[in-house]
Amino acid sequence: MTHPYMKKFAYKTQITLKVLYHFYNIIGKFFQIYNIQEYKYNFLEQFKIMKLMDYHSHNRRCGHAMGEIEDYVKVAIEKNFKEIGITDHFPLGAIIDDPQFQKIIKKASMDVKEFPNYIEDIKRVKEKYRDKISVRISTEVNFATPGRALTRQKKILEPFMDDFDYLLGAIHDIKWHDSPVIIMDPREGSEALKKYGIEKINLEYINKLIKLVETNFFDVIAHFDNNRILMRPNKPHYSENTWQKLLDLLDKIKNKGMAIEINTSGTLKGIGSQFPADEIVIEIIKRDIPLLLGSDAHRPKNIGYSFEEFIEKAKKWGLSHLCIYENREQILAKI
Ligand SMILES: [Zn+2]
Ligand SMILES: [Zn+2]
Repeated sequence: MTHPYMKKFAYKTQITLKVLYHFYNIIGKFFQIYNIQEYKYNFLEQFKIMKLMDYHSHNRRCGHAMGEIEDYVKVAIEKNFKEIGITDHFPLGAIIDDPQFQKIIKKASMDVKEFPNYIEDIKRVKEKYRDKISVRISTEVNFATPGRALTRQKKILEPFMDDFDYLLGAIHDIKWHDSPVIIMDPREGSEALKKYGIEKINLEYINKLIKLVETNFFDVIAHFDNNRILMRPNKPHYSENTWQKLLDLLDKIKNKGMAIEINTSGTLKGIGSQFPADEIVIEIIKRDIPLLLGSDAHRPKNIGYSFEEFIEKAKKWGLSHLCIYENREQILAKI
């Protein structure tokens, strides 16, 4: 039997909620009468700000993240998110078959054979929680040059193309004609940085981003300035020439209708802010390029990490929309 005190408490809460509901309704009508709709919208939006989406999450399949897909979805529901995108690393084995790298590959992504199970698992969780949250199906594809790497990736992705809501394209390494593969990892990358210098690394990274965009295959670019990871904790110094190249690339992205991810894991990785850096975000907003939010969570608790801080900051730069994807169709959502 319910304790009388609990009943009284529940009753009081109900009354308070009713009063608040009517209060906001009256305030809303007031703004409607005086045609201050925009203000009314913002005012009521305060209560919806927690209803966000996280479009970048991993799980134990990749070998370096913790938890099942379902664990991430549960946290997203607890945090009152409207949507979660599952984007575990696409199998690296699709492009690297050298046996000496097998150990590294196992720690970087799931096996090629596991990919169909991964998609099935997302579908199962999507169905299970359909009344509570929209689960989006995706994968983070490591964009590798030369072009035949993408051909091999496409072959494995092919049977699932109707399942995907969006595809994340990401760069985790760079290479130019006479260089070794330079991995975007602070330990392995610092030698390369000393040897080739910031300017060369930035330039080659942007060159690879241009190639990624020109494939017309991806919907979203993940951790846009991943080159920063090599320079942490300092900011990269873009020369005038490289910065112009980057701005031209943004124009290209705008024309192609692609979106750029705000990846909040940057702070956790010690680069002092989200990817991309503030100065690039400002240029993106200026061009009205759609942005979407991703935590790149490798632990369920990191879902939605630092999203509100970013939104608060970016609203001052004019951010008014975020984008979401359904069946590879981009939808803009007002924030
Ligand atoms: Zn990862
Ligand atoms: Zn990544």
